Amino acid sequence: MELRTVLHRRFRAESGPEFVYVATSAAILGLDELTSAIVDGFAAGADDEAWLATRSDRPAAEQSLHDLIDLGVIRPVGEPEAPRAQLPPMPFPLATLVLNVTNKCNLSCTYCYEYGADRLTEGKGSQGTGKPRMDDDTARQSIDFLLRNSGDRPQVSITFFGGETLLNFPAIVAAVEYAEPRAAALKKRVHYSLTTNATLLSDEVVDFLTRHRFGITVSIDGDQQEQDRHRSFQGGKGSFDRIAPRIRHLVQQNKLHKGRSIGARVTLTAGAAPVPETYRFLTQELGFDEVGFAPVTAGLGRPWALGELGYERLLREFAELGEDYIAAAARNEAHGFANLGDLLRELHQGVNKAHPCGAGLGLLGVSTEGELGLCHRFVESKSHSMGSVQQGIDEGARTQFLQQAHVDQKTDCTQCFARPLCAGGCYHEAHVRYGDATKANLHYCEWIRGFVDLGLRTYARIQASNPRFFTRFETT
Ligand code: SF4
Ligand code: SF4
Repeated sequence: MELRTVLHRRFRAESGPEFVYVATSAAILGLDELTSAIVDGFAAGADDEAWLATRSDRPAAEQSLHDLIDLGVIRPVGEPEAPRAQLPPMPFPLATLVLNVTNKCNLSCTYCYEYGADRLTEGKGSQGTGKPRMDDDTARQSIDFLLRNSGDRPQVSITFFGGETLLNFPAIVAAVEYAEPRAAALKKRVHYSLTTNATLLSDEVVDFLTRHRFGITVSIDGDQQEQDRHRSFQGGKGSFDRIAPRIRHLVQQNKLHKGRSIGARVTLTAGAAPVPETYRFLTQELGFDEVGFAPVTAGLGRPWALGELGYERLLREFAELGEDYIAAAARNEAHGFANLGDLLRELHQGVNKAHPCGAGLGLLGVSTEGELGLCHRFVESKSHSMGSVQQGIDEGARTQFLQQAHVDQKTDCTQCFARPLCAGGCYHEAHVRYGDATKANLHYCEWIRGFVDLGLRTYARIQASNPRFFTRFETT
C-alpha cells in the first residue's frame, strides 16, 4: 500500500529528543530513532511492503509504522481525509462581550486604527453621527443580552474597550453594578477586563478596578522615548509623564488587593526599540506582570508599518527574549513574555483552530449604540453588522460569515504547518489589507511560521530541561 506522511513540522532542541508537530491534528509526538526513520521514509510517499523489506528490525518497524498510522501521522495515499468539523451547533453560546463604551480618545496615536485611515466605522462615531459614549441603559441592555445568550456557561466575560475606555467610567460602573446581582441570580460568574491608555487611572478608578478584580491591559509602547514617539495627546505632548506614576500606583494597589496580573500591550512599529529592552523596562521599571507585543495593523505604505525586514528583526528579538523565558522555565518560574507563553499553551493543549479567534463565535463586540459587530474592531462597520443588543443576534449573518471564514475555505492555508494555530489570521487585519475579512493574511505568513517555529524549538528545549513546567497549562 502506498503511504505518506501528513503535513507536519519536525523540531528538536540542540541536544534533546526529536518531536513532530502534526498539522492535521495539532498533536506533538516524541520521535525515537525508528519513528524518525519512518517519518523520513514516507515523507515523499512509499510502498509499505517495499520499505519494510529494507529493515533488519522488521517486527519493530512494522509495529511503529502501525502506531504512526493509528496516530494519523502516516496515511494511505489517495484516501479521502475525514471531513473536518465545520461549525459547532448554532446559535453558539456567547462567552465574551466587548463593550466599546466610547469611541472618543484623549490621545491621538499616529497608528491608531480607530482614528486613522484604517478605520471601519463608515461615517459614524467620532467622525460621524454615532454616539461618542455608550449610555448606562445600553450598558445594562448589553449585560442582559450577554447573560441571555450565554447558554449553560457558568462564567462569562465582559471586556470594556474604547477609544479610551476610561473616558466613560460611569458606564463601566453601571454595567458592573447591574451585572453582579443578575449573574448571581443565574448562578453565573462574571469576569471583567479592560484596556486603557492609563492616562485616566485616578485613585477612584484604580480602587474600583482592583476591588472588582479586573484583568487590566495597558496600551503602552515602552520607555519615555518609545511611548512619546507615537502616543501623544491631541496637542502633540507625549503621554509618558502622565501615565508612568499612574501605572505604578495601579500595580501597587493591585498587589495589595491580590488582583489578577496586569499586562502591557506594545504596538510594534518600524524603528521601535528592541523587544527585550522594552520588555525589561516595562516589567522591571513599571512593574507589569506580562507584556504582549503586537505588530501594528496598517494598510500598505504607512510609514510605521513593519516591512519584511521589520518582521525578520522582530523574530530575532523574540528569540532573544525567548532565552529568558527558557531560563525561567528551567527554574519552574513563570515568565511574562505573553506572546510566547500563549503560543506554548496552545501547542501543549493541542489547539487546532477552524477560525483564527473567537470573533463572531463566542465573542461579539458592541458599539456605543448597542450594535453588534464581529469584535471590538468591527463595531459600527455596517458590512459586518451582527444585529444589536436590543434586537438580538442576526444569526443568518453570523453563520454565513463563520462559514466563509472557516480555515478550510482558505486554500492558501491548506499546506501550511502553522494552520492549526493561525487559521488565516485576524479578520480585521485581512479587511484592512485585502478589503475582505475572510481572506488569509498572506502578507505575514513568514512571520507567523517563524514564530511558530520559535515556539516549537522553545517547547523542545523546555521539555529537555524541565518538562513539568507544562503542567501549568493543563489546569486552565
Ligand atoms: S495565513 Fe499564512 S501562516 Fe496563516 S495559516 Fe494561512 S498560510 Fe499559514
Ligand atoms: S478579528 Fe482580529 S482584532 Fe478581532 S478578535 Fe479576532 S484577532 Fe482580535
